[in-house]
Amino acid sequence: MRVLISGGGIAGPALAWWLHRAGADVTIVERAPGPRPGGHAVDVRGTARTVVERMGLMPAVRAQRVDERGIALVDARDRRLASMPAGLFGGEGIVAEIEISRGDLAGILLEATAATTEYRYGNQITALRQDDDGVDVTFASGGTERFDIVVGADGVHSGVRALAFGPESDFVRPLGGYGTYFTVPDPGDLDHWFLMFNAPGGRVAGLRPERGGTAKASLSFRTPERLGRLDRASRQRLLAERFAGVGWRVPSLLAALPEAGDFFFDSIDQVRVDRWSRGRVVLLGDAGYCGSPLAGLGTSMSLVGAYVLAGELAAAADPAAAFTAYQSTMAAYVADGTELPPGGMAAFAPGNRLMIRMRALSMRSMGRWPMKQLLAKQFAKSDAITLPDYAALAPHHS
Ligand SMILES: Cc1cc2nc3c(=O)[nH]c(=O)nc-3n(C[C@H](O)[C@H](O)[C@H](O)COP(=O)(O)OP(=O)(O)OC[C@H]3O[C@@H](n4cnc5c(N)ncnc54)[C@H](O)[C@@H]3O)c2cc1C
Repeated sequence: MRVLISGGGIAGPALAWWLHRAGADVTIVERAPGPRPGGHAVDVRGTARTVVERMGLMPAVRAQRVDERGIALVDARDRRLASMPAGLFGGEGIVAEIEISRGDLAGILLEATAATTEYRYGNQITALRQDDDGVDVTFASGGTERFDIVVGADGVHSGVRALAFGPESDFVRPLGGYGTYFTVPDPGDLDHWFLMFNAPGGRVAGLRPERGGTAKASLSFRTPERLGRLDRASRQRLLAERFAGVGWRVPSLLAALPEAGDFFFDSIDQVRVDRWSRGRVVLLGDAGYCGSPLAGLGTSMSLVGAYVLAGELAAAADPAAAFTAYQSTMAAYVADGTELPPGGMAAFAPGNRLMIRMRALSMRSMGRWPMKQLLAKQFAKSDAITLPDYAALAPHHS
């Protein structure tokens, strides 16, 4: 089976790993000129942890995990308004037991697949034409090649989805805001805590510890506008304007921004696609189902989805049957995992001081009955799927 995966983020390389074990010939086409560094700490939760264990990558993940003790909401003078230690929900709270910087996880997956997967950077699919037996793929670099299956693992703004399913506006639901992440020098006083500061006007600044003398800054803001494509200088200007005068550590974060090698800036969106396949083309990860960073299960769903998709492709008689089984196995887990936490965007980025106080109060109550019980249910979502055992993915097949 010749498989082309568009997108070399998290979902694409994870799928390549499992498909190789099942004996497929896998190519990844990635639009960026090389592996993309950066990203906030992402968590590997619940069932996704089992997938990483089955890949034999848990020692590498643990070795690079961020030692994060919890999350604290702070005021402009860094006083704690509320906090939630990592252990509160058995390691499955807002800060999970296994937090790893997205760039480090991408690096682990890349290393695990580099020898068995052909990576083509700086290229992308420009046309797809499928018939009963395969898909003819045209690349931006020129030339057409035939594959048995094409997978769109190219994120929220998936190119494969646009080509084979329809315009982005049919599938992407904006939550009314933008988020940005970039690396800054470690300020030295985080003490392993993720600090978050809310300012009126729906503005949120965060600073998270990471490994190796740096920290990850995030600046998010609410806006009903769609900003369109902006170059880096315009994005930086926009952030400086939106965050002017908010105080806290924001001036130093903004001052460090021009030096950051990884500057990720995107709208905060959800992705809902009713049917994840069209013929021989299928979606995986954020391209097909994304709850936004607010829902927090994107990386886990990508890892679990990669395992299930590979397993079903290896087990089924034809791609259509495999894709149906992939979706039905994942459906309930994805429905839960893409659901926003209570209050959604307004709770994450409150508009005024009263709502900011309410947010802190609500976090303070999380450790106590009845909020604790309610939230335990919310965090249990990451276990809401039982991994099937696929013969072709068992270790003796490698
Ligand atoms: C640089 C970066 C930083 C991120 N930081 C965070 C973060 O801090 N917090 C958070 O919650 N989530 C973050 N995300 C999103 C997070 O990685 C995903 O939600 C999750 O891991 C699911 O992974 P995915 O592989 O489906 O999508 P992604 O990780 O988004 O990967 C998609 C990949 O497809 C590539 N791509 C896009 N369009 C095309 C195309 N047309 N052709 C070929 N390739 C294409 C992208 O360059 C990217 O490498 C980040 C994503 C990226 C790319």
